Amino acid sequence: MQDQTAIITGAADGIGWAMAQGFAEAGYRVLIADLDGDKAASRAAELGTAHAGAAVDVTRDSDVTALAELADARFGRCDVLVNNAGIADRHLPTLEQDMEHFGRVLDVHLKGTFMMSRAIGARMIAAGSGAIVNIGSIAGVSGMPRRNAYGAAKAGIVSMTRAMACEWAGQGLRVNAIIPGYVETALVRALIAEGKIDADRLRRRIPMGHLAQPGDIAAAALFLVSGQARYITGTTLTVDGGWSAFGDSGDASSG
Ligand code: NAD
Repeated sequence: MQDQTAIITGAADGIGWAMAQGFAEAGYRVLIADLDGDKAASRAAELGTAHAGAAVDVTRDSDVTALAELADARFGRCDVLVNNAGIADRHLPTLEQDMEHFGRVLDVHLKGTFMMSRAIGARMIAAGSGAIVNIGSIAGVSGMPRRNAYGAAKAGIVSMTRAMACEWAGQGLRVNAIIPGYVETALVRALIAEGKIDADRLRRRIPMGHLAQPGDIAAAALFLVSGQARYITGTTLTVDGGWSAFGDSGDASSG
């Protein structure tokens, strides 16, 4: 992986940061792209001088263009893109949801994934190879009350993954999505602290009896971009401890 590069959005924290660490350990040069530019820079410094951090709002076309140009200047190639940046729904009843937040959730996940893929995909097509990993959610494949925008955005990401995978398969690109279950990150810890998620009930709903660690999702991303996955494109890889496989009544585990 000496010269290979990975651009990971939302990588200053949570799952993205675990991915940045995992890809760096695997030998990739990593570009940490995050809304929080200072944290992105300090995280990159933590990884070492081969890596870079940059401020980007994935909903802004000009930010995305600037990021792609920075990747050109700094690395000169784009082998991997992970579209990971995300924000949570407010978990409000449908009748109380405001359109501003609804729009922002759709923009960060759906528009952000589209614009990043378009900018970096163009460079991968020119090079004749590349792998894109998008981050979905179990909220996008099953009905979760109070998560209209988040669920719809994540379902849209899966649809877009399939469309881009089919369009770009002949040009050497692979596009796949990971469907994480519940992962112990700041995003989920905040929902638990606000009483929007009951951690004990949640653990009992998961057949494996515990939440994922961010590194579990990073491991799946490393697999999807690796040579071992060379014939895999347009797929979704569920990493949820059995959450979506469970269909019985009652608890799935003792938690
Ligand atoms: P997190 O809040 O810990 O980290 C998200 C990162 O994204 C932050 O560093 C934040 O600054 C950045 N970000 C937010 N908006 C951005 C924007 N507009 N442009 C660039 N960066 C932006 O969240 P996480 O739990 O690590 O989630 C990462 C991804 O995984 C998200 O797409 C989320 O929807 C998805 N996901 C998380 C879980 C979970 O249980 N944590 C489950 C399923 C899917």
